[in-house]
Amino acid sequence: MEEEEEGSMKWNFKGDEIMKKASSWTIRTILKTLIANLKGADDPTRPVIQLAHGDPSVFPSFRPSKVLEDGLIEAVQSAKFNCYGPSNGIPQARRAVAEYLSKNQQLEVSVDDVHLTAGGRHAIDVLLTALAHPGANILLPKPGYPFYEARATFSRLEIRHYDLLGEQAWEVDLHHVETLADKSTVAIVITNPGNPCGNVYTYEHLQKIAETARKHGFLVIADEAYANLDFGSTPFVSMQHFGSIVPVLSLGSLSKRWMLPGWRVGWIVITDPNGILQKYGILDSIKSCLDISPDPATCIQAAIPKILNIPEDFYSRTLHLLREAVDISYDRLREIPCFTCPYKPGGGMFIMVKLNLSLLEGIIDDMDFCLKLAGEESVTLLPGVAMGLKNWLRLTFAVELSSLQDGLQRIRAFCLRHEKKL
Ligand SMILES: *Cc1c(COP(=O)(O)O)cnc(C)c1O
Repeated sequence: MEEEEEGSMKWNFKGDEIMKKASSWTIRTILKTLIANLKGADDPTRPVIQLAHGDPSVFPSFRPSKVLEDGLIEAVQSAKFNCYGPSNGIPQARRAVAEYLSKNQQLEVSVDDVHLTAGGRHAIDVLLTALAHPGANILLPKPGYPFYEARATFSRLEIRHYDLLGEQAWEVDLHHVETLADKSTVAIVITNPGNPCGNVYTYEHLQKIAETARKHGFLVIADEAYANLDFGSTPFVSMQHFGSIVPVLSLGSLSKRWMLPGWRVGWIVITDPNGILQKYGILDSIKSCLDISPDPATCIQAAIPKILNIPEDFYSRTLHLLREAVDISYDRLREIPCFTCPYKPGGGMFIMVKLNLSLLEGIIDDMDFCLKLAGEESVTLLPGVAMGLKNWLRLTFAVELSSLQDGLQRIRAFCLRHEKKL
């Protein structure tokens, strides 16, 4: 076709702005900018240290156990799992998840309540899609895991942010929740153990959240992607224990405890002994949503029974590594004058640090801090704006210990170099 003709030709399709708006929330978008700013990427004496996002699977200390690899190899070699699977997962994998959760949390999880998804993010996709209806709103934590904002924006669910209280172990500000909720509030999302805060909620606090949700008539989405990655004094308790107070939709994933994010398997567990979700059509919506979305690879599902029955020492080794890493991070970060750490994480892979800009020269905000840090020290941190909390920083401590120590040293050097001279 001639160029002149192309200009006057009118096609019938066009991109939707909502996509751009939704993706602007994702961590990936910010990481791209930070990575573009890394200068030392090709200097072998000064390797890049990525503390902005959590993926310990790339480090030798966190290498997934051979048992997990064998599970997949066996599944592939059996030639029994080259087939399509049912839309909510193959029965033996769902049963393995139900048994694992029942044993792990002293619950009675039925196989019918477990639905497999292509990773935790797909579980979020399904839940928010099933809940979105015109005019509905959802309560999301601030700071939070921004994929929820992205997905809610995409589904045109109105977002209302409730505060987490940094001085109170990042608990949910329930008074704030009460002021935000109305007749159109469909759900509250809680992340426990938390990303980005490393919070681990007590049984009592979870119960209060459940009671508040019941009072206002919305359900609880419990993001338990970091379930059992708790290493502090408060043990992890699943929100599933409160299903008789309020319907609970919880999600889990192989990405964190088993450190297999690339295998893309997660699950939704429905805890609703009173059958409320069935009555209000949400259960059918979730099932329909699973029917029209892609499922995890069948051979990986087939490996799940083996994965979830891995010997205990795999778990204790990870916790030992994380405990050591959080101790070092918390101590070192607190020594840096322009940082405040209100809370030492009791779980998860991240710590939040507040930036005191008045002690720094020539740094305008958290994003500026992260860009300059990447440029000068080849270290990445995630700016708080990405999680809704400006002038904070998120650091992952789930990295090789030697890299963590090197990274903390460079952060310290950077802060001292940019300190305001009095
Ligand atoms: C990592 C994560 C998930 C799930 O991630 P997948 O990699 O998709 O399994 C869900 N919620 C939170 C808070 C996470 O950090």
